[in-house]
Amino acid sequence: MNETFKTIENNNIVSNYFDNNATTFIYDDEVKNEIMKWINCGNPSNTLHKCGSDAKNKIEECRKNVSNDLNVNSSEIYFTGCATESNNIIVNDIVNNWLIHNKGNCCIITDNIEHASILNVFNNIKRNNRVKVIIMDIDTDKKSKYYGSVNPEHLKKIIDENNNVIFMSFMMVNNETGAIFSIDEIGRISKAYNIFFHCDATQAIGKFIIKPYELNINAMTFSGHKFHALKGIGVLFIQNQCKMFDKTTREICSQFKINEQEGEVRGGTENVVGIVSLSKALQLVHKDRHNKNMKLKAMKNYIIEQLENNDCEIIKPYKSVDNTVLVILKGIKCCNKTFGKKLNDIYGISIGTSSACQASNTKSHVMDAMKINNDDAEKVIRISMCDYNTTNEVKYLVKSIIELLNKER
Ligand code: PLP
Repeated sequence: MNETFKTIENNNIVSNYFDNNATTFIYDDEVKNEIMKWINCGNPSNTLHKCGSDAKNKIEECRKNVSNDLNVNSSEIYFTGCATESNNIIVNDIVNNWLIHNKGNCCIITDNIEHASILNVFNNIKRNNRVKVIIMDIDTDKKSKYYGSVNPEHLKKIIDENNNVIFMSFMMVNNETGAIFSIDEIGRISKAYNIFFHCDATQAIGKFIIKPYELNINAMTFSGHKFHALKGIGVLFIQNQCKMFDKTTREICSQFKINEQEGEVRGGTENVVGIVSLSKALQLVHKDRHNKNMKLKAMKNYIIEQLENNDCEIIKPYKSVDNTVLVILKGIKCCNKTFGKKLNDIYGISIGTSSACQASNTKSHVMDAMKINNDDAEKVIRISMCDYNTTNEVKYLVKSIIELLNKER
C-alpha cells in the first residue's frame, strides 16, 4: 500500500499531507474493512445468483445511506465515476433535452471560477448557436459580502436581461480559494424564475451537511475521494420530477445512455467497492461535523496569524471553508511550484499550488477571476487540511514554511 502521506512517530500517525482539496486518503479502518469485504463480488446486474444479488443489495443499501444523508429519495441518487462525469452528464443532458424537445433558443449561466469540468462543458456548448452561454464574473469588490463568489444581485440582473434562461450551475465551495457561495440565495432565485439549478458540491460535501431540497437545488454532484473514500466514484443527485421541464429525470437523462444500470442515467457495471467506500466515508465524515469544523477553524486561524506575522498575504474571500488557506508568499525569489517541491523534499510536507487538475504551467483561471496579479499568482500556495490533521502537524507546517521563506527571500 502507498502510505507515503504518513509516518509513524512514537506510535502516533503523523501526516504532513496538506493537499486535501486535491484528494484525501483513507484513514479509517471501518472504510478499509468495507472495501476489503467487497473487493470480490458478483456483477450487480446478474441477480440470478447470490454473488450478484448480494452486490446489488449492497449497492441499494449504500444508495439509501447516501440519500438519507442528503434527505432525498434513494431513487434520486445515481453513482457515477467521479464528479467530472456527473457534471458532464447533467449539463449536457439538460441542454440536449431542451434542444430536442423545444424549438426556441435558450440561455444557460455559470461563473468564471467553476471547476474545469463545468467550464469546459459550457464552452463546448457555446458552439451551438441555439444556446446562449453566459459565464458571469464573480464579485471582486473586497468590501462586498459576496467577495470571491457569485453576487446574487448580479445574477438576477443577468437573468432579467436574458430571455429564456433554462439552466444554471454554481459550485458550493471553490476548490482553490475555499470561497463559500450563497447557495441558499441562488436557490431562491432559481425557484422564483423557474430555472433548473445544478450545484457542484464536490468541495462542500464532508465540510457541511447538505440538504438539496432545503436549498432549492435540483441536481448536485460530488466525488468520494474528497472525503476519504476511494478514487473513481462519484454521485449525481437529480430530483425525480423536473418541474421546469415537466419531465422525469429518466426522460431527461436516459436517452443518450446505452446500458441500463443506474436507472439508465449512467450505464456500465457499477464500481461496488467504490460505492461502499463512499457510503461509509460519508457517514463518518458527517459525524460530529460541527466540532470537527471548530477544530479546523482554530488551526486555520493559527496558520493565518503566523503567516501574516511573517509578511505573507492571505487571500480571504468574504466567506470561506475552515480547512483551506490560500497564501501569497510575498518576497520569495522562486515560484510557488519550486517552493512546494522544496517543502516536500526538505520537510516531507505536501501542499498544493492551484487546482490539482491544472497540471500545466498556465495561470489559474481562479486567480485571474479574483484579479490576483501575475507576480502574486506565481507565489500562491494552497494549504488544505482534513479532520485527521493535528495541531502538532500544523505547527510543524507553519515552522517549516517560515524557515523556507527566510531562505527563499
Ligand atoms: N468540482 C470541483 C469543485 C472539484 O474541486 C473537483 C476536483 O478537484 C471536481 C469537480 C472534479 O472531481 P473529480 O476529479 O473527482 O472528477
